Amino acid sequence: MEQQKPALFGKTAAEIREIAAQLGLPAFAAGQIIDWLYNKHLDSIDKMSNLSRQARALLNEHYVLGKSNPTSVQISADGTKKYLYRSGTNRFVEAAYIPDEDRATLCVSSQVGCKMGCLFCMTGKQGFQSQLSAGEILNQISSLPERDKLTNIVYMGMGEPLDNLEEVMRSLEILTAEWGFGMSPRRITVSTIGMIPAMKHFIEHSECHLAISLHSPFHDERRKLMPIENVYPAEEVIEVLRTFDLSRQRRISFEYIMFKDLNDTPRHVKGLTKLLNGLRCRINLIRFHPIPDTPLESSTEQTIQLFREALVKKGIRTTVRASRGQDIFAACGLLSTKELVKVQAPDF
Ligand code: SF4
Repeated sequence: MEQQKPALFGKTAAEIREIAAQLGLPAFAAGQIIDWLYNKHLDSIDKMSNLSRQARALLNEHYVLGKSNPTSVQISADGTKKYLYRSGTNRFVEAAYIPDEDRATLCVSSQVGCKMGCLFCMTGKQGFQSQLSAGEILNQISSLPERDKLTNIVYMGMGEPLDNLEEVMRSLEILTAEWGFGMSPRRITVSTIGMIPAMKHFIEHSECHLAISLHSPFHDERRKLMPIENVYPAEEVIEVLRTFDLSRQRRISFEYIMFKDLNDTPRHVKGLTKLLNGLRCRINLIRFHPIPDTPLESSTEQTIQLFREALVKKGIRTTVRASRGQDIFAACGLLSTKELVKVQAPDF
């Protein structure tokens, strides 16, 4: 069956060279295939026009290309677009395109659903469904209509990227390699809730920026929001970060969603200052987009600004993330959850 064949898109240069050799293709054909896959972003093996007809037939016999266009898009009044991509049967992931004055960012998903169960997250409510392959992660970029405008990629969509370490690392290799998308690692940020062993591997093997979802400096409060705190407490995550030389260009940031009366008080400013003491980093404060069936509320605009000022006074670089596309997505995971419910619910 066609779908059972492995995909070419998402394979590294070394793997493509191996495939070419196995199929008995000349060595230069591997370079041509890589070029078609990652520089020319084509949508069919048949369009690899500088390969012989026999080479294309052999590739078609054993492989599929592994690319697919988004199945739908929602467009916000502010220009943000949320694309839905199909992953396997009846599974969907989201990618959010966020254009700005001087940049255009794509927020990509790394898993279908997520097993981490964060209280404030719609994807977490979906539960875990499957890992995305490197090809499926990169397809969100390569098949994006605005692909040529992209300046930045953030791995902050559905899923915990470091819970899919192997495929995420493979996708980063292809994104940053000269033979791949040729993107600077300084334009890529991978987000994590702080899975320590995978985080160490990522820091040692990638030069991309790292963002850590913090949301509270206090163990007892963070674990109510994020069960991962029971396994990898934020304090340990930060101790690990201190053991690395992060002084090169790499940026470490902490994501902090502001919840009314829960994590937005002077006590939390104090806690954050103590926890991050001396670490070269910045904090991104994020307004909470309410999701269905949760008692959580966003802090007020005034509280967010006061919180930011208090952190800045303590010497911590702090920004407030602009709220984009509020009219089309209350939270990441909402659109794909709706789609999932649609395909699971029988029509009467
Ligand atoms: Fe998973 Fe991230 Fe949502 Fe937590 S916030 S449940 S890690 S997708």
